[in-house]
Amino acid sequence: MPLTDSFGRLHNNLRISVTDRCNLRCTYCMPEEVVFMDKGELLTFEEIVRFVRVASPLGIDKVRLTGGEPLMRRDLARLVRMLADLPGIRDVGLTTNGILLADQAEALYEAGLRRINVSLDTLDPDRFRQLTRRDGLERVIEGIYAAKRVGFDPVKINAVSIRGSTEQDVVPLAIFARRHGLQVRFIEYMPIGADKWERDKVYFAHEIVEQLERAVAPLVPADRYDPRAPAMEFRYTDGGGEVGFIASVSRPFCTNCNRLRLTSDGKLRNCLFALDEVDVKALLRGKAPDSAVADVIRQNVQAKWEGHEINTARFVKPLRTMHAIGG
Ligand code: SAM
Repeated sequence: MPLTDSFGRLHNNLRISVTDRCNLRCTYCMPEEVVFMDKGELLTFEEIVRFVRVASPLGIDKVRLTGGEPLMRRDLARLVRMLADLPGIRDVGLTTNGILLADQAEALYEAGLRRINVSLDTLDPDRFRQLTRRDGLERVIEGIYAAKRVGFDPVKINAVSIRGSTEQDVVPLAIFARRHGLQVRFIEYMPIGADKWERDKVYFAHEIVEQLERAVAPLVPADRYDPRAPAMEFRYTDGGGEVGFIASVSRPFCTNCNRLRLTSDGKLRNCLFALDEVDVKALLRGKAPDSAVADVIRQNVQAKWEGHEINTARFVKPLRTMHAIGG
């Protein structure tokens, strides 16, 4: 039986958070002061791999490691290797802020990682400090170059789009991406951080398209444009590469959602905005057989709601912020 929810959505995509710790403090993502989990709360690599081994025959064939900052988890390349070696897993990806990437890019590539997204909202050091509450722009850029050098292709750059802020970063990021053969993707700002979100604060995908067309080059849907995919992909008509948009607010993609999330402390979530989570760590650490873990995965998928309802008065923000769920 495929892993399908009550709306007929097939689930094959698992995001795994490996830590809630982060070496940045992005204002839209997490609070400045955080009490991180005890390390003993985190799933071990063996527990994560057991979970994936159980989920894979149910239909999960794509995993992405995230956090917190996943590169802060010691020996992450070992986990990548363990996951990439699982016969049912065809795709292992990573989302990172890039601060520690220059040192780890080669080991990650050798371990079997092929897909990498680096989060970077600005190329201006002062604005970087303002947005992340830390220094480190140079290191992120070195990390991006290192990723390209060791063979990651494509390297994608993720930038959160916030009205009153991102307008000034759109063109520099686009030009940087075009120059270095990267794909920048703008992600609409979502109500999942520690700050006060309002819909008016989202700088929408269509506005960025207009800005890029005015300042850089005309855009047309990319050849593989899939209106159901989370990222809407466009290409510049002058041959300058591609740009993507994750329009979670202006164009929610819940009807095609295929994702599940495993938090670093072993809670299973069927939506980024889910208000309930299921404790799988208790099963993994107890004597529960694999069949009990599989049952919980099926039930969690089956119970998935229709969508996140960001755009309605019914929306309720989850208690955990993005860094603790896994972005
Ligand atoms: N530390 C890693 C990183 O920076 O990529 C992985 C975790 S981070 C939570 C994953 C992604 O979530 C990043 O691209 C980040 O920009 C994005 N993100 C965090 N808060 C967000 C928000 N309120 N709206 C939209 N995207 C957000």
